[in-house]
Amino acid sequence: MIRADLHTHTRHSHAVNSVAEMTRAARETGLETFGFSEHSPRPDGYLYPSDYQAKLLAGYADYIAEVQALRRASTPQFTVLLGLEIDFMPDELEFARQAVAAHPFDYVIGGLHFQGKWGFDWSQAEWDAIAEAERFKIYARYYRDLGALIESGVAQIIAHPDLIKIYSRESFDRWLNTPEAARALRRTFGLLQERDLIMEISSAGLRKPCAEIYPGPRIMRLAAELGLKVCLSSDAHATGQIAYAFDQLETYAREYGYAESWIVAGKQARAIPF
Ligand SMILES: [Zn+2]
Ligand SMILES: [Zn+2]
Repeated sequence: MIRADLHTHTRHSHAVNSVAEMTRAARETGLETFGFSEHSPRPDGYLYPSDYQAKLLAGYADYIAEVQALRRASTPQFTVLLGLEIDFMPDELEFARQAVAAHPFDYVIGGLHFQGKWGFDWSQAEWDAIAEAERFKIYARYYRDLGALIESGVAQIIAHPDLIKIYSRESFDRWLNTPEAARALRRTFGLLQERDLIMEISSAGLRKPCAEIYPGPRIMRLAAELGLKVCLSSDAHATGQIAYAFDQLETYAREYGYAESWIVAGKQARAIPF
């Protein structure tokens, strides 16, 4: 059984429930370690067509204080952690450094959601309008940007490492069969190995149009070959998504030889067997 879930969101961003509601649900789910990893504020100009930035900024200090209070009230049976999901942009490194240094986060999950100023995980319609040759360029850039995130040193955990497939999985699978993709993946995940960071395996992909765990089998094989550390998580955006499909996630990870999920508390990593 997976006993920790470190990747979760609250209504301070675009998720549904409060910090208190999420905590109560996590406890009821039987988790022993529950981490909040609300999205970071973004630099000016990086916006989705409809965005939660104003709400996030207005409530950010309260959010941090709420989670810190719960963290202090942790017991050996149930621990709350203060994490952060940084929306990483390679051109905004200084912003990222300041965001992660602004509060005493237990851990930082680094996630790519933007390519330039485009939030690529926004809509199916946008992807439907992109020809496959162009999609291939987007995938390649995604792994270059992921390399920059890994090298930046701002994160200990790398989130949903093939989120770019969200709205075009068939094209993405075809791209994965190209020599260019093989080189790109080997370079990026080689960096992850070199830096001794943790790769997330996320059940969130099961809830999206790609209908596949992040990352898919090819990257899982590479991760196992490279001996990467992994962290299994849900990316819950509502109480009902905490520890989402964790039985399936555990079975999937075991297929590739994994039997433990890493967590990070106070920036110290440790493995918890399933
Ligand atoms: Zn994310
Ligand atoms: Zn997330």
